Amino acid sequence: MAHSTQAADSSRSVPGITVLGATGSIGTSTLDVIGRHPGHYRVVALTANRAVGRLVEQCARHRPEFAVVADLAQLPVLEKGLRRAGLDTRALAGPEALAEVAALPQVDMVMAAIVGAAGLVPTLAAARHGKRVLLANKEALVMSGALFMEEVRRNRATLVPIDSEHNAIFQCMPPGFTAGTRPAGVRRILLTASGGPFRTTPLEELDQVTPEQACAHPNWDMGRKISVDSATMMNKGLEVIEACWLFGVDAERIQVVLHPQSVIHSLVDYDDGSVLAELGNPDMRTPIAQALAWPERIESGVEPLDLFAIGRLDFEAPNLARFPCLRLAYEAWRAGGTAPAILNAANEVAVAAFLDGKLGFPRIAAVIEDTLARCPVQDVDALETVLASDAQAREMARAAVAASAGSRVA
Ligand code: NAD
Ligand code: MG
Repeated sequence: MAHSTQAADSSRSVPGITVLGATGSIGTSTLDVIGRHPGHYRVVALTANRAVGRLVEQCARHRPEFAVVADLAQLPVLEKGLRRAGLDTRALAGPEALAEVAALPQVDMVMAAIVGAAGLVPTLAAARHGKRVLLANKEALVMSGALFMEEVRRNRATLVPIDSEHNAIFQCMPPGFTAGTRPAGVRRILLTASGGPFRTTPLEELDQVTPEQACAHPNWDMGRKISVDSATMMNKGLEVIEACWLFGVDAERIQVVLHPQSVIHSLVDYDDGSVLAELGNPDMRTPIAQALAWPERIESGVEPLDLFAIGRLDFEAPNLARFPCLRLAYEAWRAGGTAPAILNAANEVAVAAFLDGKLGFPRIAAVIEDTLARCPVQDVDALETVLASDAQAREMARAAVAASAGSRVA
C-alpha cells in the first residue's frame, strides 16, 4: 500500500536526486545550490550528452552512484576518467540509461535539465515512477502535453516548474495547488518576457545577426539553444504552451508582457483584482532552490534584490510582426494534437542550422511556418505518435533549411 512506500521514503532522511543534463547551464546551477547544503541532498546520478571531462569533475565533487553519457562512443572515455579520478561511480551510456537513472527506487527527485526533445523519454520515465519532477526541459512537456500530465496524475508524481516564469506562477498559486488544474479564482496569467537581445534592433538588420549576438542575452546566462529561442521569442511561445498544461488554462487566459528588466518573473491575476507576482534577481538558482526545498526554503547563493539599484520596471506589448515565432506557437497550441511537437521539432532543426551558420536568423521562423503548414497533425494517443510526428517534422524542416540555403546561394 501507499503507506509502506511512504514509510520507506521517510526512513531515507536525505532525498536522492538525479540530475539529467548535469553539465549544462541549469545542471551546473543545480549542483551549485546542492553544494551549498552538504548532507541535505544525496546525488544518485549525473548525466551528460558527451561532456565527459566536466561530468567527471562533477562526480569527484558530488560522488554519485551513477554517471551517464548519452553518447555511447563516450563510455570508455567516461570509465577511464572515473578510474583515473579514483571514483567508484558506475559509468553507463545510451538513451535507455538516461531513463533508467531517472527511475531508480533510491531517487526521490529528478532535475529534468536536458535541452530539447532528447529529454522527453527520461523525463517521462521520472513521471511514470512517481518522482518529484523539477521541470526545466519545457520541450518535453510541449511535445507530449496531455500524455505527460496524465502520467503525472496517474503515478502521483509531483511537478515543480523550474522555468523562472512558471516557477513564479507556481509560487503565486493558492496553497494546495495541483499541476494541471486551474484553481478557482484565477482569471489570467501574465507571462513576462525580456524581449531578448533584438527587442529594438531594426527589422532590416535581423538577417545580419550572428549566433554570438543571438546568444548574448541581456539578463540571463543560458545554454545556446534557449538563448536563440529567447531572441526569436519562440522561448515565450513554448512557455505559453507549457503554462497551458501546467496551470490548466487555455492560451487566451495567458498574456505575454514584455518586461526588459526580468525582475518580475510572472504574475497571477485573480477574479477580485488581486495580482500576485514573484520578483528576484535573474538567476536560475532561485527557482532551482525553491523547487529543491519546496515547501520549505533554502539559501540559493543569489544576492538580495536591490530595488533602488533597479530604479524602474518597464512593460510593453510584444510585437508579433517582429516575433513571428510567438504567433506560430499560439497557432500550434490552437491546432492541438501533435502540432506543438511539430513546432518544437522544426524549431530545434532551424535553431541548430542557425547556430551552424547555415540559416539566416529571420529564416528560423520561415522554416517553422513551412513545416507546420506541411506536416500532418495527429491526435496524441501514445508516445510513439509524438515521436513519429517529431521525426517527420525534423525531416521536413531539414528539407526547408536545405532549400533556404540553396536560395541564399542563388
Ligand atoms: P545547456 O545546453 O546548457 O545544457 C543541456 C544539457 O543537456 C547538457 O548537460 C547536455 O550535455 C545535455 N544534452 C544535450 N543534448 C543531449 C542529448 N541528445 N542527450 C542527452 N543529454 C543531452 O541547456 P540549458 O540552458 O541548461 O537548458 C536545459 C533545459 O532547461 C532546456 O530545456 C531549457 O529550455 C530549460 N531552461 C533553461 C534555462 C536557463 O537559464 N538555462 C531557463 C529556463 C529553462
Ligand atoms: Mg523562462
